[in-house]
Amino acid sequence: MADAESYNPREVAVEQLANAASRIDVPEAVVEKLKHPKRIMQVSIPTRMDDGSLKVFTGYLVQHNMDRGPAKGCIRYHPQVTMDEVIALAMWMTWKCAVVNIPYGGAKGGVVCNPKEMSLSELERMTRRFTSELIDFIGPQIDIPAPDVYTNPQVMAWIVDTYSMNKGHLIPAVVTGKPVEVGGSLGRNEATGRGCAIVAREALSTQGIDVNGATVAVQGFGNAGSVTAKVLESMGATIIAASDSRGGIHCGSGLHVEAVTKHKAETGTVVGFDACDEITNEELLALECDVLVPAALENTITEANAAAVRAKIIAEAANGPTTPEAQAILDDKGVFVVPDILANAGGVTVSYFEWVQGGQMFFWSEDEVNSRLEAIMVRSYNEVVAEAKRGNWNMRDAAFNVAVGRVAKAVMLRGIYP
Ligand code: NAD
Repeated sequence: MADAESYNPREVAVEQLANAASRIDVPEAVVEKLKHPKRIMQVSIPTRMDDGSLKVFTGYLVQHNMDRGPAKGCIRYHPQVTMDEVIALAMWMTWKCAVVNIPYGGAKGGVVCNPKEMSLSELERMTRRFTSELIDFIGPQIDIPAPDVYTNPQVMAWIVDTYSMNKGHLIPAVVTGKPVEVGGSLGRNEATGRGCAIVAREALSTQGIDVNGATVAVQGFGNAGSVTAKVLESMGATIIAASDSRGGIHCGSGLHVEAVTKHKAETGTVVGFDACDEITNEELLALECDVLVPAALENTITEANAAAVRAKIIAEAANGPTTPEAQAILDDKGVFVVPDILANAGGVTVSYFEWVQGGQMFFWSEDEVNSRLEAIMVRSYNEVVAEAKRGNWNMRDAAFNVAVGRVAKAVMLRGIYP
């Protein structure tokens, strides 16, 4: 099989669909429909740069499926964005929304650009033109984007403004992940990590381990990773290690998450935090612990390092951190892996809450957001566990079975138009 770097994400996504469909007997015609995104768009984004020159960026928007509701996806700004990557990410969004049973299909957007080399005003002009090019294809009932790599609440606020100015009135529900001041939801920033901590706690319980005193290592101490650590710590777990792109820290008696977060905010890295040993990312992945949380990039746990993993549970906060070969090795070792489409679905779940609140202009307290998130994550986790037991599948296969099954059912009930 191909190594991690040579994967075509679109082919991987189609293969995952086909595998799930054959496990749960989805009719061939439905699989054929789901292999093909509903819409694939490519737009040119002419943008005036600060020096007066014109640069034309390429943008993509893919809407994979809308049989269960409007498409929900994120917009990524990155030099390496490709159409195949955007298609795969849109498909994964369809399954992520279905596994937590929120009424959305999947979408994804991307612009080939390097935001690190662009000024704020260049980014704003590019974002507004991208929004204008897609104005008839996004909207609260069509496709609701959110932030992804190198896009943030400010970018979402520009999209809200551009869309609303063109429609003549404020329409906050066109995107999620907005600042609270323009209709964002309380709890959205922490939602991915909170959701991941909730499923990690449930997984510990499934494995007969008390969360109180359970040991946790977090690879990638960014938004998703640091919040997962903070919430697990508040549940009584001991965070024994954390890392970022510059290296890692290890402290067997437990790190104080708030202090590490403060240290990273001040210095840009977890490295150098007092009273800890320095370790590499590879060493962190091989630590003996109850829960390992990969929360950085895709293809982190591979054929090359999976055998060294000594965690009992992996809760995938990142998207795609485990390659298929690594999953097979982890299965043989008996590691219980809670897959990304379930473990990091807290973010899209609270995005759904944000869309509901924006549509009604009626906003909830943070406690209300968090308790509704808890209910959805626990229910979804239990549904995937039940499916795993039904066919003796691992949690990843079971999550895909649940998700693909739900979407396939919707396709069959609606039928093929006309
Ligand atoms: P982030 O940029 O806030 O954090 C990423 C962290 O990973 C940073 O601390 C960075 O230093 C670290 N990192 C980068 N390369 C590394 C490496 N080689 N080894 C160790 N650490 C490394 O990003 P984020 O929003 O927390 O996203 C992290 C992952 O979670 C991504 O896969 C993302 O797709 C996924 N995710 C995030 C959300 C969300 O709401 N933030 C939702 C769903 C999925």
